[in-house]
Amino acid sequence: MRTTALMSTATPRSLRPTTIERRDLRPDDVDVRVTYCGVCHSDLHALDSAGPQAGLVPGHEFVGEVVAVGSAVTAFAPGDPVAVGNIVDSCGTCAMCLRGQENYCAEFPTLTYGGRDRVDGSTTLGGYAGRYIVRDSFVYHRPLSLDPAGVAPLMCAGITVWEPLRSNGVGEGTRLGVVGLGGLGHLAVRLGHALGADVTVFTTSEGKASDAERLGASRVVVSTDADAMAAAAGSLDLVIDTVSAEHDLAPYLRVLDLDGTLCSLGTLGPISIQTMDLLLGRKRLTSSGSGGRPWTQDLLDFCGTHGVTADVEIVPSADVDVALDRLARNDVRYRFVLDLADLDAELDAERDTLHV
Ligand SMILES: [Zn+2]
Ligand SMILES: [Zn+2]
Repeated sequence: MRTTALMSTATPRSLRPTTIERRDLRPDDVDVRVTYCGVCHSDLHALDSAGPQAGLVPGHEFVGEVVAVGSAVTAFAPGDPVAVGNIVDSCGTCAMCLRGQENYCAEFPTLTYGGRDRVDGSTTLGGYAGRYIVRDSFVYHRPLSLDPAGVAPLMCAGITVWEPLRSNGVGEGTRLGVVGLGGLGHLAVRLGHALGADVTVFTTSEGKASDAERLGASRVVVSTDADAMAAAAGSLDLVIDTVSAEHDLAPYLRVLDLDGTLCSLGTLGPISIQTMDLLLGRKRLTSSGSGGRPWTQDLLDFCGTHGVTADVEIVPSADVDVALDRLARNDVRYRFVLDLADLDAELDAERDTLHV
């Protein structure tokens, strides 16, 4: 089946609408018409590391409707509202997969783009496209009560913060800290607040204080203010650090209370920690990435019940390069979402003609 995708060209960070071929439906496949796809920092990294090599289609947090299903699919039917994240397959038999942690599959999960299809070995092409064919196990039911564009970022940014919130037992009265108020951070605040936590936001930009409070934070600490950081010492149970740039983790270990946990979600590479900062107060340092299938549906169900979505700026598919460029400068509050509904207009017209 042909569809239109936004594909990388020889020019860095420049995507062009290109007709691509999606596979024929396997028995366990779902054919999804993509309506909105979030623009994630990973998309920028993937495009930058691909260099002048063309042919990459980014996009791994998208929503849409089911167009058709394979013969063995029972959980979905044409017309169903659905969402897809950054994992589209896994081995299904390793200890991690059996525990519903497909994100940590021993064989490494198949990524939504730039991954290797486990059946035919082809390279996966992402959700900046009119259609996506995906194995049914990695398609999720999307609550109709939520604005679809605001749901798209839940599938990467959202699940990335949701799994540590859930696995660390955040609930009523948890004293939660969130470092950084970007795509991940703003959702950590909103979700933490909805879970009943008392949320403190750490940011370098004082300008974000009112936004943090609107999202549900009780207080904002400017992390460059040494007195404010000292006053926060020992006050939190869990800190979720969403900052991906290199930085010192020690200040965030020090704001933890006894047995507190610091979860660093950035890919920081080798870092230096004084073990004394862990010893004093028996602190824990951990990390996490993406989420398994059960947590992902859990997130969507929770968001449906509590009316939680991402703050998004919707851009037409034709402006994808502008969105990528602004994201690279962190000029977004808090997530760009591409409107892809018109992408296949020409192909759809062609299909209609064929069916007359
Ligand atoms: Zn992502
Ligand atoms: Zn596995």
